[in-house]
Amino acid sequence: MLKSKRTPILPPPSPEKKYEIIIDSEQCDGCELCLSFCPKDLIEISEDKFNSRMLHYAIVVKPEECAGCRQCERLCPTVSLYILEKDNKEVINNE
Ligand code: SF4
Ligand code: SF4
Repeated sequence: MLKSKRTPILPPPSPEKKYEIIIDSEQCDGCELCLSFCPKDLIEISEDKFNSRMLHYAIVVKPEECAGCRQCERLCPTVSLYILEKDNKEVINNE
């Protein structure tokens, strides 16, 4: 795993926005880039789960804390991860 972390310029927190982290576990190679660069440590590599290629894949541990900086999305070499932006008002209305 990489020892140093880059600190992204985070977008200002917006109470209007909520972010969902979507990971395609079949496509993920478990390279750890996303978790190495997440400034909030929200991603881990699964210890007991494998995909069909017998690779441990990335999982989200604290999805509600995502700041939406998209650092993970930009760095993923296999395009297995993306951030879905939701309007909190829509979420509340649909619940
Ligand atoms: S978008 Fe969310 S999960 Fe991805 S690096 Fe930023 S804070 Fe972490
Ligand atoms: S950067 Fe992409 S391929 Fe690497 S562990 Fe994260 S989701 Fe998986």
